[in-house]
Amino acid sequence: MKSEKRFAVIGAGLGGAAVAVLLKQAGYQVTVYEQAPEFSRLGAGIHIGPNVMKIFRRMGIEEKVSLMSSHPDFWFSRDGETGEYMSRIPLGQYALDNYGAAYVTVHRGDLHDVMLSPLDNQDVIFNKSLETIDDTGDEVLMTFADGTEAKADFVIGADGINSKVRETLLGKEEPSYSGWVAHRALITGEQLAKYDLNFEDCIKWWSEDRHMMVYYTTGKRDEYYYVTGVPEAEWNSPKAFVDSSQDEMREAFAGYHETVQALIDASTSITKWPLKNRNPLPLWSQNRMVLLGDACHPMKPHMAQGACMAIEDAAMLVRCVDEAGLTEYETAFALYEANRIERASRVQRTSNANTWLRTQEDPAWCFGYDLYDAPLKDPLKGEVA
Ligand code: FAD
Repeated sequence: MKSEKRFAVIGAGLGGAAVAVLLKQAGYQVTVYEQAPEFSRLGAGIHIGPNVMKIFRRMGIEEKVSLMSSHPDFWFSRDGETGEYMSRIPLGQYALDNYGAAYVTVHRGDLHDVMLSPLDNQDVIFNKSLETIDDTGDEVLMTFADGTEAKADFVIGADGINSKVRETLLGKEEPSYSGWVAHRALITGEQLAKYDLNFEDCIKWWSEDRHMMVYYTTGKRDEYYYVTGVPEAEWNSPKAFVDSSQDEMREAFAGYHETVQALIDASTSITKWPLKNRNPLPLWSQNRMVLLGDACHPMKPHMAQGACMAIEDAAMLVRCVDEAGLTEYETAFALYEANRIERASRVQRTSNANTWLRTQEDPAWCFGYDLYDAPLKDPLKGEVA
């Protein structure tokens, strides 16, 4: 064990899982507290860029993730109505050769399972909804909704857009509704087989104010997934998502290409999610508490890099803790913020603007990034350390 200091991670989402695994592998003590009673295979897919596959290499899960995922050769953008190609962004072998790892699309639940697999059962405690945190200066005391308490030397807030850790640092403030919703549906390969259409591996259908992103979530291509972005003036439900319908989708995508209409016809269960946001936070850490992922910089999901940024945060945080040591933990956390804020903010802006890969552009700044190769920026001097 590298240090007797105890890290508590709040939230076992993709960012929390990554930071817990990387801390443990680096020899630190870590316990994850997750509010959910368990995780289920929710109906959603996710893109993982080469920038994050290189972090999975460190975590020892790159091959597993690669084997279960779809490996698109291109990200296509097409006009929703005419079907005309607006961009053909090379991935596949091009990504391996030029970005140093694969670009994959996968089922989010399957990915989450693999990301948690390096942890032992006792490392993640479920049914622990954080209620309060008290940083006494020497340690941090946490209370949970079930009446229990725990102590740690440091707390990492990986608890998503409604983060309690963020609230402790900056006060209560609801995230803002962006005015956009996302419909999500999974379609089986059997359902697709009924159509004499070409269902491309990774494609975004666009029109002026809306889009539909579609891709496979397995290496076997037996599950296809779509996620939309559609303007909707208000969101009044207190729920995380509500049911949608084929009728609602037909209305939202009237006039779209026959392939999109076939996908709507083939979807049996459709859900609708509000897309929420926050302005950039004035601080990422304070004393013994530090934030990552959606707790820190949530974004509209249109660049498919939100979880990737949470995982990059996790890797950079552990790198900076290793670099600065825990005696100087405030230096380590400042180093982490200094080495993440520019990139995470750029991704947040690009994602919110929903322009990514709409036309032919070079995504190397995002996909080619190797977090472990990037020189560390000194937060005080602004120099390369
Ligand atoms: P979360 O995934 O939100 O995890 C937070 C965890 O903390 C949860 O498990 C939660 O239960 C737990 N928690 C919350 N409060 C407490 C508490 N008080 N006590 C204990 N535990 C708590 N990103 C990509 O990289 N690629 C994509 O293709 C992509 N597609 C997306 C599509 C849509 C429609 C949406 C909405 C998002 C998409 N994203 C994508 C973004 C991505 O989902 C998020 O950025 C990512 O999940 C953030 O990870 P996180 O670990 O920071 O937070």
